[in-house]
Amino acid sequence: MAQPWYKKLHWQIITGLVLGLVFGIVAAAQGWSAFTSAWIAPWGQIFLRLLLLIAVPLVLASLITGVASLSDMKKLSRIGGKTIAIYMATTVVALIIGLVLVNVMKPGASVPQDMREKLETTFAEQAESGMETAARAAERGPLDPLVDMVPGNVFLAASNNRNMLQIVFFAIFAGIALLMIPKEKARPLLDFFDSLNDMIIKMVEIIMLAAPVGVFALMADTITSIAGDDLAQILELLGALGFYCIVVLLGLILHTTLTYGSMMLLLTPRSIKEFVRALTPVQLVAFSTSSSGATLPVTMERVEKELGVSEEVSSFVLPLGATINMDGTGLYQAVAAVFIAQTIGMDLDLSAQLTIVFTAVLASIGTAAVPGAGIIMLVIILESVGVPSAGIALILGVDRILDMCRTVTNVTGDATVATVVAASEGELEDLPAMA
Ligand code: ASP
Repeated sequence: MAQPWYKKLHWQIITGLVLGLVFGIVAAAQGWSAFTSAWIAPWGQIFLRLLLLIAVPLVLASLITGVASLSDMKKLSRIGGKTIAIYMATTVVALIIGLVLVNVMKPGASVPQDMREKLETTFAEQAESGMETAARAAERGPLDPLVDMVPGNVFLAASNNRNMLQIVFFAIFAGIALLMIPKEKARPLLDFFDSLNDMIIKMVEIIMLAAPVGVFALMADTITSIAGDDLAQILELLGALGFYCIVVLLGLILHTTLTYGSMMLLLTPRSIKEFVRALTPVQLVAFSTSSSGATLPVTMERVEKELGVSEEVSSFVLPLGATINMDGTGLYQAVAAVFIAQTIGMDLDLSAQLTIVFTAVLASIGTAAVPGAGIIMLVIILESVGVPSAGIALILGVDRILDMCRTVTNVTGDATVATVVAASEGELEDLPAMA
């Protein structure tokens, strides 16, 4: 028998999200933000931590088994090469969409001078700390990001979710080594990681039962922490930066529907309906947590169970994507960089815009899959084209909202590429008949 709609996970999460939004707005208008942060926000934090708690062991276990189950090195390099190439290509498409929109719509031309000054002073301090972090990153040598990928101590790497790229490196390396030793020697470790993997997937299922409540609390807290007890302030901010937000959102929507939609339609046997149905809970969790790392466990579960991607492919492609593939972030960075330049009256020529594409593709690899990471990397992009990085003060006020939206695109991109790679490898299992 078909399930009634209210029992379906994505409807429950949507309900939590909408109620959280409404509660947040009412709380901001009524001055309940202290109550919200004391009594509501912790439930969201618990949900977020539960997801983050399993992110490192999940990446480790799934990538090691994923790589080691690829039967031989030839298959590994074929799937690996294909995955990285598609990830990069989609990021470039996202950046081009962002650049075309921001150049045609020119959101920076409509920010009044007095608002610009106000934004600059209000967010000067936050901008300063973002710039310091980015300056430390930019001071380093050209090969340092490569050095950063290689952990000196695997336990230290595993102790911080920001070091996910190091975990990815270790896991792929370990998986390759397991492929190269005799099968009977590799068996015990593979069985161990396999069982760890299954345990984690079960944990995801259990955590997702709490998703509606977690999403409610995260949304309510986000709204009250942006607006404080003064809703008028957020409206004023949206008035000034609304057009910029619309350009970013339009870009994200176009990329998510057109680029990913056509990849699904043309390169896989899945229909758009199946795609939407499978990914809605993933997108909602991404939206409310603003973190593709925290969403990864949910992405893996849905892509395997609802899109039929084999574990072999999903456990390799998805953890890699969550760490290195961020189309939404790249698109936002391209729009933001040009917007800031437009606002301060700077003209960015074609070569500057190509530099943005190049730096943003690299930056998206290094961007951590956590909230707010994109704007730090934006500083590096601004520096590369000579736009003053203090300009991030202009957009900081609306960054959290855009972060939520770009994270949705980031996770949708990972899931799409996983399905495309699986289809091209004949690794897409049949779906059970739809309820
Ligand atoms: N929050 C984004 C993510 O986790 C990264 C960013 O753009 O800040 O995917």
